[in-house]
Amino acid sequence: MSTQRRFDSVSAAKTWSRRQESRSGDRDLLPRVFGEDTFGLREMRARLPDNVYKQLVRTIEHGEELDPGIADTVAAAMKDWALSRGATHYTHWFQPLTGATAEKHDSFLKVGRDGRAITDFGGDELVQGEPDASSFPSGGLRATFEARGYTAWDPTSPAFIMGGESATYLCIPTAFSSWAGESLDAKIPLLRSIDALDRVTRRALKLFGIDAGRVTANLGPEQEFFLLDREFYYRRPDLMTSGRTLFGAKPPRGQELDDHYFGQIHERVLACVQSVEMDLYRLGVPMKTRHNEVAPGQYEMAPVYENANVASDHQQLMMRILERNARQYGFVCLLHEKPFRGINGSGKHVNWSFGTSDRNLMDPGDTPHDNLIFLFFCTAVMSAVEKHQDLLLACVSSAGNDHRLGANEAPPSIISIFLGSQLEDIFNQLEESGRAQEREHEGLLGLGVNVLPDLPRHSGDRNRTSPFAFTGNKFEFRAVGSSASISLPATVLNTIVAEAIDDWTELLEPIVEAGTSIEDALWTLLSNEIPSFKRIIFNGDNYAPEWVEEAARRGLLNTGSAVDALPALAAHKNEVLFDKFGVFSPRELDARLEVLTEQYFIKINIEGETAAHMARCMILPAAVTYLNQLTSARAGAADAGASTAGLDSNAARVAGLIDELTAALDELDAQNEELGGDEVSSKVIHMRDNVIPATNAVRDVADRMEKVIPDDLWPFPTYRDMLFVK
Ligand code: ADP
Ligand code: MG
Repeated sequence: MSTQRRFDSVSAAKTWSRRQESRSGDRDLLPRVFGEDTFGLREMRARLPDNVYKQLVRTIEHGEELDPGIADTVAAAMKDWALSRGATHYTHWFQPLTGATAEKHDSFLKVGRDGRAITDFGGDELVQGEPDASSFPSGGLRATFEARGYTAWDPTSPAFIMGGESATYLCIPTAFSSWAGESLDAKIPLLRSIDALDRVTRRALKLFGIDAGRVTANLGPEQEFFLLDREFYYRRPDLMTSGRTLFGAKPPRGQELDDHYFGQIHERVLACVQSVEMDLYRLGVPMKTRHNEVAPGQYEMAPVYENANVASDHQQLMMRILERNARQYGFVCLLHEKPFRGINGSGKHVNWSFGTSDRNLMDPGDTPHDNLIFLFFCTAVMSAVEKHQDLLLACVSSAGNDHRLGANEAPPSIISIFLGSQLEDIFNQLEESGRAQEREHEGLLGLGVNVLPDLPRHSGDRNRTSPFAFTGNKFEFRAVGSSASISLPATVLNTIVAEAIDDWTELLEPIVEAGTSIEDALWTLLSNEIPSFKRIIFNGDNYAPEWVEEAARRGLLNTGSAVDALPALAAHKNEVLFDKFGVFSPRELDARLEVLTEQYFIKINIEGETAAHMARCMILPAAVTYLNQLTSARAGAADAGASTAGLDSNAARVAGLIDELTAALDELDAQNEELGGDEVSSKVIHMRDNVIPATNAVRDVADRMEKVIPDDLWPFPTYRDMLFVK
């Protein structure tokens, strides 16, 4: 039976077929396909009257409000373009609080009075939609009597065609809100946070004599994922229901050999990844890097960074296309943070910076003046991160990410900043050496460093263990989970940094207006402020147990589990923060907390139930069959007068494991039965404190059983099968 299963998979690995993609010698392939499935500026210019096009550009590039009068014209052009790309339907494409994307298709079809079909798509349909919102989580924002939700066109993210052999349709990126205008999605708060950052940054830049254009946040997310043969996936109820393995003994060969990282990409994987990239190019997603990751079967892809709103939409597309195309190559793409115990999990490194179209404010720059601006904004980020460790942990916390950030695996759930030794040295000097005048001749701020960029930008120190690392011209937020939307983390980052910039601008403005130079004013401000957030800087190994102790001494937050981290979302300090910058109302914040808490509960609940089912209905019967084989063999051996000692000891061992499994299963069943009260806040505590340990206890016995039960009786693929068949 089981042997047959393994042969099935091996045959899938052997018989995958290539999609016709790599047309060798086609020099124009990339320029030609890039963006061809998007209604972006290129198509708009070609298809829209000049004045309409210019209005759209002002909205897209400068954030100006859109004149609703142009909607009909844009809709007509968009429809023509979509039809020319083979679309039959359109959908408002939005990001409800589930963290995924949602769509509801309508056809372009309209039947005329003479019974003939025409196509139709007006400005109204482009601008606003009304999906039946009752099934989307709202965290209490939408009373059941008012199930309506509205989607509203986001002209700043290009509409695109999703298509395959089965269906082709137009997707219009939209925001999703309740009838009262409260955000039910991931996009609206992100857009609001980008606006907040824009406002405060432009005001701050005036202190430096710069009258800046639109400031935007930029994101470059690196996505880690596993590819697993589909044959294995369908034979594992745990993978199918929860995206991760709830059982599995450690294989004889794990990632110890370190031979996978940056190794040559296996051909079937390469073909699959290449197809993902080609489809993403068509969607205008600028995919850049791909490589094998540390664990066997684990890979990473990353695009070139883009403005936060588009990057966040594109990141969703990347995940969806990965999942879709993996199946075309006989794989399943696992985006879960921890699909396999004992080998690395997957994260999403969110590279973040902000600036104007010609100035990255996270780049130290080339002149002392640029350096000064950089110091202001970089330290603002640091103080924000220190002040809002709780929020940064909350916005990345989930049942899945607990396996990475939680108690059992490094890195711990402690936020710290890696600066690199040279930049840290500069901050130390800033803090220690008083005012700058005495050493003016020595260059910038009297530190003896004229120009910063050669220091950190090309410095050799890289720290892969830090959850928040400065990497030369951006910060890299590494604690984000691989399956998560990057919207919320980006929203949080934009907002907390906006607050720090705003606070400091408030302090500096009157001083500078009174005649002090910005250099002197900033110098004083920084030497006053640095001591208050300096403890967040840590350049050492975040995986080392000593760091946990050191962080505790420094008084840094260590939440341990999503159950502890999530409530910070709605803490008073954070309500005030988000309300002040118009990013979340207190009700909207509560809604996020409720939905994320509910998701934690549901996920652990499903895992508990699935583990119980697999153990009782798959593993236990296999063990019983084996015991039966042993005992009948023993009877036969005794009849034949052969030795029975080995059979006896094996039978005793299996019988003992069956006893252990049964006891652990009874306990898990009892914990699954109990939901932990009526409130979701108490249910999650039950899940964390009782269901997870009971699930792990069952696994512990089952994994020992896997090592004694014959291969051909074991009811599902093992780690050895899954990790090494490609
Ligand atoms: P590494 O693995 O060395 O950290 P990668 O090349 O895999 O780097 O990914 C780095 C990511 O950071 C890419 O998506 C890249 O476009 C992005 N990035 C580079 N510069 C910036 C910036 N200024 N702001 C935001 N993201 C950036
Ligand atoms: Mg990388």
